[in-house]
Amino acid sequence: MSASDARQFKRYKVVAKTAESACITSFVLQPEDGSALPTWQPGQYLIFKFDLEGQSYLRHYSIAAAPGNPAGLRIAVKREAAPAEFPDAPAGVISQHMHDTVHVGDTLVAAGPLGDFVLNQNSERPVLLISGGVGVTPVLAMLQQLVQHSDRRVDFIHGCQDGNLHAFASEVQALVAQRANVHSHLCYLTPTDTDRQHAAFKVEGLLTREHLQSWLPLDDYECYVCGPTPFMQAVWQMLRSLGIAQDRIHYEFFGTATVLEKEPVGSEVAVADEASVSVTPTTAQAVDASGETVEFVGKTSALAWDPAQPSLLDFAEAQGLEPYFNCRSGLCNSCMCTLVSGEVEYVEEPLDMPPEGKVLLCCSKPRGAVVIELAE
Ligand SMILES: Cc1cc2nc3c(=O)[nH]c(=O)nc-3n(C[C@H](O)[C@H](O)[C@H](O)COP(=O)(O)OP(=O)(O)OC[C@H]3O[C@@H](n4cnc5c(N)ncnc54)[C@H](O)[C@@H]3O)c2cc1C
Repeated sequence: MSASDARQFKRYKVVAKTAESACITSFVLQPEDGSALPTWQPGQYLIFKFDLEGQSYLRHYSIAAAPGNPAGLRIAVKREAAPAEFPDAPAGVISQHMHDTVHVGDTLVAAGPLGDFVLNQNSERPVLLISGGVGVTPVLAMLQQLVQHSDRRVDFIHGCQDGNLHAFASEVQALVAQRANVHSHLCYLTPTDTDRQHAAFKVEGLLTREHLQSWLPLDDYECYVCGPTPFMQAVWQMLRSLGIAQDRIHYEFFGTATVLEKEPVGSEVAVADEASVSVTPTTAQAVDASGETVEFVGKTSALAWDPAQPSLLDFAEAQGLEPYFNCRSGLCNSCMCTLVSGEVEYVEEPLDMPPEGKVLLCCSKPRGAVVIELAE
């Protein structure tokens, strides 16, 4: 599928709906017009568009199946309750809608596959797949692909609350059983009596660096991590303290992206909570001679552009800023900001080009010196 095809919204029929755990339900989709399934890479997602009661919503859902899955494109959605700290807040709009209202035979509208959190299939290195909760979805696609199409060592590490909230348990077990060098390590935070009776988990409580050390022989791993932000921060620190290079740790956030690398990593594991993560600029230096600079009005001085950043949105996030975004793909214009001065180039053509004086952060890079005022 071409990049521009992936950016078109298409209609899909729901052909199966399955409860995968007490809070995660999967949906299998086929193109409504009977055309072939799009091709995708393990780890990619679809962006769904919903119109509910006169309001439009875009939501990402990772494809929880390896490419070529004959049943169709499978996604799995966690029902999002109100956060513990805001118990009176409404539950997640779309996840609730998917669980309660979307059934087999219904139509969903989605663009994609998109995203660059994808399995490097040209590598022979052993793979660590580490997920927390519904973060299992993209790495399950990777696990399927690795089991079916490679002989690389794979360690699949998953953490969740208990057996009731553990999605895809038997599917992962069956995949692991297919090859001798594929291993699964389960951590249940608060296992139930039934979990204990079935010896369904390896670790009770939090995953630690010592667990990783005891499971994994010294090797040159490639790691793929997806889960709640505090989980990702803790895992990142553990992997780094075990000597795994930054560029071998690939990760996907299901919410706002956060800076994972704090200070230079020592030998001690710091299991950081969200509030303690420093947002010290990691990429930008003072202005250099290259001429490409970015200033965020009222937030930063003119900083040298980091060519390794895929977009101005990633660059802003690397500075610890949190601009509003939604699709990260130039589809929804949520990240539109004021371009006070300078010019940008679009690395992906926006679906709706923003008007003069505005810029979409998620799909552009600076051309020369730019000054941007972030939307409040
Ligand atoms: C790349 C990517 C891939 C993803 N893949 C998956 C996936 O495979 N599976 C999956 O389940 N999700 C995935 N997500 C997350 C998904 O896109 C949605 O964000 C998620 O389903 C929540 O959407 P919602 O509409 O249900 O919740 P929203 O309505 O957006 O609410 C989000 C949370 O905010 C709370 N909230 C609402 N109002 C308030 C308030 N006033 N104050 C405080 N809190 C409030 C809600 O209770 C809820 O917990 C992915 C996200 C990304 C970016």
